[in-house]
Amino acid sequence: MFIAIDESKCMGHGRCYAVAPDLLTDDDEGFVAERGRCWELPADLVGQAQDAADACPEGAIRVTEAAPADA
Ligand code: SF4
Repeated sequence: MFIAIDESKCMGHGRCYAVAPDLLTDDDEGFVAERGRCWELPADLVGQAQDAADACPEGAIRVTEAAPADA
C-alpha cells in the first residue's frame, strides 16, 4: 500500500498527524511535513494511513494499492 499527500490541497488543519503519529509529523507552520510525497507504507502503518486519509477534510491524502501515477 502507498500513501500520497497532495501538497496543493493541504491546508494545515493538523488532523492527519494527530491520528497517525507514527507515520506523519508537522512542520513549523502546522502543515503535515510529508506533503508532496508518495511512499510505500510498512504493513503495520496502513491502518494509521487510512485513519489520516479519513481525517483530512481536504481530501489531500490518498491510500492506494499501487503508487498513483500522478504522485
Ligand atoms: S489533515 Fe489534510 S489538510 Fe490538514 S495537515 Fe493533514 S493533509 Fe494537510
